[in-house]
Amino acid sequence: MVCVVCGWWNPPVGTLWKDPAGRSAVCPGCQASLQPGGEVRLPSGVLVRSLLVHEGPIRKAVHAMKYRGADRVAWGLAPLMADLLPKGATAVVPVPRSLPRRARFGTDPGRALATALARTAVLPVADVLRAPVLHRSQIRSRRRGGLRFRSVARPPGGAVLVDDVLTTGATLSAAAGACGGAVTAAVTLTRSRPGGGGKSLRSAHGGPDTRAGNPVDR
Ligand SMILES: [Zn+2]
Repeated sequence: MVCVVCGWWNPPVGTLWKDPAGRSAVCPGCQASLQPGGEVRLPSGVLVRSLLVHEGPIRKAVHAMKYRGADRVAWGLAPLMADLLPKGATAVVPVPRSLPRRARFGTDPGRALATALARTAVLPVADVLRAPVLHRSQIRSRRRGGLRFRSVARPPGGAVLVDDVLTTGATLSAAAGACGGAVTAAVTLTRSRPGGGGKSLRSAHGGPDTRAGNPVDR
């Protein structure tokens, strides 16, 4: 048995925590640090639910997933993300990583999560979004405004975007825009903690909600 967050292999018997359905194992140290990510509605109208706040061991786990292809993170935590899917979800839509980064690191975290989530939730993957190849001159604008996606097909109504980290929401809004209004919800593994002085958002509960503006490389 392995902790899906920190990768601790074979902790002492009895110290692993399992979620109530027995699907994912997390060691006590990680469990104590995990905080629910909650939900937020982006200005674009997309409702985003995140499993965890992007802090502590899960932050390192996401890093491992993005840059070292740690599959245990996606496969271990996707079952918990399934609980975040809206009722009536029809498919999951991976938010693709930019091609240069996918080539460099050999991984696509959004796709890995979407694949694992689809398996768990018994939903099809609607692989309709493509990230453009970025040229050097576009990198600055990418950092300001998120990626510009194109779609190769329209996903079914009720499809849900899947990505690894929610920061400003610009990426998810761009992805939803490329889906032409067929997508109104998204789930992410983590969410940057509100209050970091970044772009202001309004939470789904109506209160003001600001979040860290630290860009997370795609
Ligand atoms: Zn752990």
